[in-house]
Amino acid sequence: AYVITGACITEKAADCVLVCPVDCIEEGEDQYFIDPDVCIDCGACVAACPVDAIYHEEDLLDEDLPFLEKAKSFYNIA
Ligand code: SF4
Repeated sequence: AYVITGACITEKAADCVLVCPVDCIEEGEDQYFIDPDVCIDCGACVAACPVDAIYHEEDLLDEDLPFLEKAKSFYNIA
């Protein structure tokens, strides 16, 4: 799955929401979140994001790993 990282915080451009073919991106309090159980890894949101906030979970920097956990928590995934 793809993961939205810290650059989304305060930016919240939401361009990703419009391009996601499976409608799996929702607005949270401080950033948008991708549902990792629904994301089909198409990558469309990566190109749409104006602040390069989105990475595949396997390409996350160590410092960005908490954003995957934050997304799972948002969607109540164990
Ligand atoms: Fe949606 Fe594709 Fe981005 Fe996954 S990679 S969140 S399916 S646009």
